[in-house]
Amino acid sequence: MGRRALIALAVLTPTAFAGWLVWQSADQSAGAGSTAPTLMPLPGSSRPASGGLPGGDSGGSGDSGSADGTGDRPLRGTTVVLDPGHNPNNRYHAAEINRAVDIGTAHKECDTTGTATASGYSEAEFTLDLARRVRAGLRARGATVEMTHQGRRPWGPCVDDRAEAGNRADADAVVSLHADGAPASARGFHVILPESVNEGKADTRAVTGPSRDLGRELADAFRESTGSKPAPYAGDGEGTDTRGDLGGLNLTRVPKVFLECGNMRNPRDAAQLTDRTWRARAARGVVDGVAHYLTQKR
Ligand SMILES: [Zn+2]
Repeated sequence: MGRRALIALAVLTPTAFAGWLVWQSADQSAGAGSTAPTLMPLPGSSRPASGGLPGGDSGGSGDSGSADGTGDRPLRGTTVVLDPGHNPNNRYHAAEINRAVDIGTAHKECDTTGTATASGYSEAEFTLDLARRVRAGLRARGATVEMTHQGRRPWGPCVDDRAEAGNRADADAVVSLHADGAPASARGFHVILPESVNEGKADTRAVTGPSRDLGRELADAFRESTGSKPAPYAGDGEGTDTRGDLGGLNLTRVPKVFLECGNMRNPRDAAQLTDRTWRARAARGVVDGVAHYLTQKR
């Protein structure tokens, strides 16, 4: 991104710019050769911007996101739960993650290993990295953000626990982050919405409407931020799919969607998913989408 673009961004969307700086500073702190501009202190920031560091996270759940009242923090008072799909360590714990859990409509595996690019970059690594970036961006706008896991657990959590994390937090929005493992010829992103189910432990009837609103905002913002197109193979081909077979959605009692950011098996999508600059754009799309949804609800 050139200097001119940065200045324009700062003028047009000051809050987004603040969040973007947090991601960039996280990259830079990681010693990864970031091309970030000179960093500026975040107005009203109550903590160092290193909260999103891969491997350097303190692991605390929640965050005050509190402001000193001087910053522009439109998401103050909201709670967002981010669910990084899978876990890099799941592959070593087949017995545990294959254990069946009750998702209301059926019993399904506790969790799965997820997919990976041809070069071996795993979906679980991707989702953790993206979640940390999104968390930093949402906190910069004042939201309280929790994650269902930090990648330090030996495996899991199970899908029912992932759903429960959003319920327990009484989250205003939950986003489960994923990347797909579709046939290599296909590319693109899509959002998965909860189907209306009412069976056993599952009852999504009250949240299908708001989840659809959240999903639409997310798809629009993600598309705008990344330039990615909706996956033609999923759902309606317009970027949204509705499913009643996912425990993480069936068991939610709060607005929740899955975001499949691209197809890890497609070479062009894989090149994007493994690119930290692209991931910063993807994170910004998620932050913008969630922010639009939350501010319109108010
Ligand atoms: Zn996944």
